[in-house]
Amino acid sequence: MEGPFRTCFLCGKRGVSYARVENHSYLKCPGCGLVFVDSIEPSEALYGSYDGGWFKSLRRKLFMPFRSFEGVRHFNPSMERAARIFDVVASRAPAGLVGTFLDIGCNKGFLLAAAIRKGWDVFGIELVPELTIPFKKRFPRYAGQVYSAGFREASDLLKTGSFDAISAIDVIEHFEDPRKDVERIFQLLKPGGFLLVQTPDTQNPMALEKRENWGALKPREHLHLFSRHNLERFAKELGFKETAVIDAFDTEDGNFAAILKK
Ligand SMILES: [Zn+2]
Repeated sequence: MEGPFRTCFLCGKRGVSYARVENHSYLKCPGCGLVFVDSIEPSEALYGSYDGGWFKSLRRKLFMPFRSFEGVRHFNPSMERAARIFDVVASRAPAGLVGTFLDIGCNKGFLLAAAIRKGWDVFGIELVPELTIPFKKRFPRYAGQVYSAGFREASDLLKTGSFDAISAIDVIEHFEDPRKDVERIFQLLKPGGFLLVQTPDTQNPMALEKRENWGALKPREHLHLFSRHNLERFAKELGFKETAVIDAFDTEDGNFAAILKK
């Protein structure tokens, strides 16, 4: 059973056992501390876990087309959170810039709406198509700029070097091949542009004390878990000039957030 373990994509060292969750093994890199699943399931199986199961999926397919953007559940708190996140984006951009923004994993489009309010041009990528229907109806001008696909497929449709800011909130832990995907994000950014990420922090007290019971360990969804240190190292390798760790927007799973500047 204990076969040769996967190696860390950052430093090439073989992972050692870290935790066993839902019949999957998480490994930890003895070099950089990256936590990662020992085996990645086929994409279709992974997609099933984003869909939320057949009942939620069916309910969404039936009702989302009739919902208004403002009528989606938790609209007010979601827009407040989105406005807080976009304020961070705007505050890091050159003063007065009305730029081009991409949100990867844009869900129902709240962050895109917050950017539109500030006059920015917006693009979004969301794997689950029904989620963005109310947004597209509310903002028809941007409907053609919101793609229902995985990041890799959608990013092929986007123009290299065209974004002032890209956000990936709770996203990079889902990437099957973080090197390839974050490298593509780097290419999509303009020189001087930046990536805002939020992701679980393997150095937070919950991760260190609870291990198996740490909420961020979801082996079908969270494939690679970083710390501020190995993310900074990763960013440097890809060519980002600066990494600044900032307060997380959501703290339940012991996240950290960071700005990676090109
Ligand atoms: Zn490593």
